[in-house]
Amino acid sequence: MAGIKAKNPSEPEFHQAVHEVAESLIPYIEENPKYKQAKILERIAEPERVIMFRVPWINDKGEVEINRGYRIEMNSAIGPYKGGLRFHPTVNLGILKFLAFEQVLKNSLTTLPMGGGKGGSDFDPKGKSDNEVMRFCQSFMTELNRHIGPNTDIPAGDIGVGGREIGYLFGQYKRIKNEFTGVLTGKGLQWGGSLIRPEATGYGAVYFAQEMLAVKGDSLKGKIAAVSGSGNVAQFTVQKLTELGGKAVTLSDSAGTIYDPAGIDAEKLAWVMELKNIRRGRIREYAEKFGCEYYEGKRPWHVQCDVAFPSATENEIDKSDAETLVKNGCQVISEGANMPSTPDAIEVYLEAKILYGPGKAANAGGVAVSGLEMTQNSMRLPWTREEVDSRLQQIMKNIHQTCLDHGKESDGYVNYVNGANIGGFVKVADAMLAQGVV
Ligand code: NDP
Repeated sequence: MAGIKAKNPSEPEFHQAVHEVAESLIPYIEENPKYKQAKILERIAEPERVIMFRVPWINDKGEVEINRGYRIEMNSAIGPYKGGLRFHPTVNLGILKFLAFEQVLKNSLTTLPMGGGKGGSDFDPKGKSDNEVMRFCQSFMTELNRHIGPNTDIPAGDIGVGGREIGYLFGQYKRIKNEFTGVLTGKGLQWGGSLIRPEATGYGAVYFAQEMLAVKGDSLKGKIAAVSGSGNVAQFTVQKLTELGGKAVTLSDSAGTIYDPAGIDAEKLAWVMELKNIRRGRIREYAEKFGCEYYEGKRPWHVQCDVAFPSATENEIDKSDAETLVKNGCQVISEGANMPSTPDAIEVYLEAKILYGPGKAANAGGVAVSGLEMTQNSMRLPWTREEVDSRLQQIMKNIHQTCLDHGKESDGYVNYVNGANIGGFVKVADAMLAQGVV
């Protein structure tokens, strides 16, 4: 860790992600010295390549704006780099390195042949016109195009990058390269996208919670859930949860949380989707529309719930939030977001021995269906909704089984953190050993 900190100063999120993985892996590596001799742990914490670039564009007032673009190509041992693009003002090198590092293990867990990467920009799409977003995306892709390709590096969406942004990025790539390929995932259905891709991360997080509960002979039926965020992952988490008989009672955004004890049913969710994806409004309006509580500047973790689905951003559950969740009887945490729990919060879950599904396992459904989108693009053949959904369910089951195989403790408690970290590591590490010192 001292080496990581010295080499990557001022990148606390990256240090946090590596530390968490190293804690699980070091005992395993001690038992398997081949990984130690080949310095696999040190090698996976060093990106294969980091690209940083200027993104100049012109706003609606005719003024020049300048953002910074990034792509971290972290590891290609088991497949081409794969991982999302994030457009958010907080984006910096350390955040993207943490996300790229997590992505390597997550992609390995999916069982599909995908390496890991991540990218994005400190551009904030909030409050920008469609034309401004388009001009930004075109400028971003004008540089990024030379580093990516359907067999090299295949970006997707993340915070601030949804269907609209992927469309503009894809249009510019196609125009520059004069080729129609599956270079991005999360595309529209009419131009190479996969059914279930928009739903996949949220659905996957719910399927993972279901798998964890099934080990205890329980299910999501009748469970009350706190969900954070109100973007892509949160919306489809609520949808699948409701379908499976659970009840979501919260949603949030960076300004606050709504609490609707009656439950966010299909009709209310449709309204949220229109609010967030089309009107691009604030979640506060939900409380005004449906007459429920709104907690300005607060996160959802103080409400009574059986299950929590953090689906907004990193470090959104701290130690005291975790203690409140446990005190209120929450039995399951399934992370739709990446690294939403601080290390102290994770300690609280593990000590209380509740079911805790870390992001790299619980939210892997998104990238898994991105992998399926790549397969369909290569075959030039779209699959049905049922086909993709059943593959997604099977992948989430497999990931859960991998976690059991590597994370079951002597008293029967499943430590999904160890399970996911070791399970994701082995495949990448063995591939790196086979490929020599590269
Ligand atoms: P969206 O941009 O669609 O939604 C993000 C949501 O989180 C918004 O409600 C946003 O509120 C809120 N949010 C973002 N940043 C913050 C912050 N700093 N503090 C409080 N709230 C915040 O993103 P996604 O739903 O796609 O992503 C959510 C999480 O899921 C991220 O951690 C992402 O990395 C992870 N993830 C996403 C995948 C995908 O397929 N999309 C795959 C795997 C993981 P506001 O509008 O106010 O900013």
